[in-house]
Amino acid sequence: NTPSRLRQVAMNLIGNAVKFTDSGEVAVHIGGRPIIASPHGPAPAWMLELSVRDTGLGIPEGERDRIFEPFVQVTLDAPRREGTGLGLAISRSIARAMGGDVTVRSELGRGSTFTLSLPLSIEPFEHVVELPPLRVLLVDDPARAR
Ligand code: ADP
Repeated sequence: NTPSRLRQVAMNLIGNAVKFTDSGEVAVHIGGRPIIASPHGPAPAWMLELSVRDTGLGIPEGERDRIFEPFVQVTLDAPRREGTGLGLAISRSIARAMGGDVTVRSELGRGSTFTLSLPLSIEPFEHVVELPPLRVLLVDDPARAR
């Protein structure tokens, strides 16, 4: 259902932001904008937009499309940061299957913003943001730092 998929994608984006940010902050913003209904279309709909902004490593310009391909890890030390390279591919296919998308803006060395957009046909926007609270577990393991 929509809330659990939304949560799955949100957790992937937030997890990445935390993983690839060594200093600064990670901010999550949830908003929405109306989709202008076509004269022949159904009732006006909302586009839910969930953005995760970080002040982390950033992604080189030429790699911003590739990171959505399965098993692609572009950050130099991505292996040290764990992961499979599958999260974004899965997140984007979930979003696209629901008529939305996951997109990225980034500045190398300064940070990235990933945005999940999801069209909501008839449910009022307010209804959809009533999600269970997101819990983020941060585990620090300095002994493994190299
Ligand atoms: P994983 O995180 O398991 O490596 P993902 O598919 O979630 O796989 O991400 C693919 C790659 O995209 C990551 O390995 C990393 O190189 C890059 N990436 C994803 N999110 C970020 C981010 N917030 N900041 C910098 N690089 C990122």
